[in-house]
Amino acid sequence: MPRLLAMRSTKTSLLILFGGWLSFSASASQDEVRQACEKISDKLSSVSFEECNLPELSASGGYSTQGFPILLKEYPPRPGKKPKGRVLLVGGTHGDELAAISIVFKWMHTLEKHHSGLFHWHVAPLLNPDGALIKKQTRMNANGVDLNRNFSSPGAPVDAALQYWRVKTRRNLRRYPGEHPLSEPETQWLKQEIETFKPDVIIAVHAPYSLVDYDAPNRSNAPERIGYLYKNLMGTYPGSLGNYAGMHLGIPVITLELPHAGIMPTRAQISKLWTDLVRWLIHNL
Ligand SMILES: [Zn+2]
Repeated sequence: MPRLLAMRSTKTSLLILFGGWLSFSASASQDEVRQACEKISDKLSSVSFEECNLPELSASGGYSTQGFPILLKEYPPRPGKKPKGRVLLVGGTHGDELAAISIVFKWMHTLEKHHSGLFHWHVAPLLNPDGALIKKQTRMNANGVDLNRNFSSPGAPVDAALQYWRVKTRRNLRRYPGEHPLSEPETQWLKQEIETFKPDVIIAVHAPYSLVDYDAPNRSNAPERIGYLYKNLMGTYPGSLGNYAGMHLGIPVITLELPHAGIMPTRAQISKLWTDLVRWLIHNL
């Protein structure tokens, strides 16, 4: 019996240890989110700490080049119900497009109140924290890489994005794709997130071109207009998310380009953009 007792007590202490570790890691993650939100609300005048520090906003486990957590919030479908679709919403791929980060927080605020479970959402409001949260924000990440050129381009030579950069952009530093595809932790995280969440559509928010773009194998159902943004289908670039997810994985990518990187749309515009987006999802997923 002493042996059995000893085994039991080992099991019990393991359980206690494991439980303790779980609550420790949960609070460590909450601390990370709190600290992240302090920095985000300091930088973005239109996002308060409370608007950022939402219940169950989590440190996804992914980190930027400089170790800043990539934040993620899930809005699950109704329990036991299959959602009409899974939607991945990503803001702040380019750090100097501050309005494209703030507006995602505003839409999360809408989801906090009105999420019905019709869709299953994963929302990452700020993919490029290193670019956004420094004093003079930059498009690129801390390694000087344009994250929207750093995805892989299946079927193309491995240096396709680099070649494009050298020849077509004449080595424009704002478009530098990195030494090789997926060299950056932020793009590696998004690739992983796409593989595990398996979204039916990805919505990426940018600025300042004032349009809606749509990358998918079949572009016939591209949104004609979302709020005050009208359809304008651009080409894709080697290494872009639209090229990688939209053309190669076959997951439609809606790119919303707000008209200003540093000026927020009005409340009415923010709200109309959202209702038009959700309307498109309802009709197309
Ligand atoms: Zn952008």
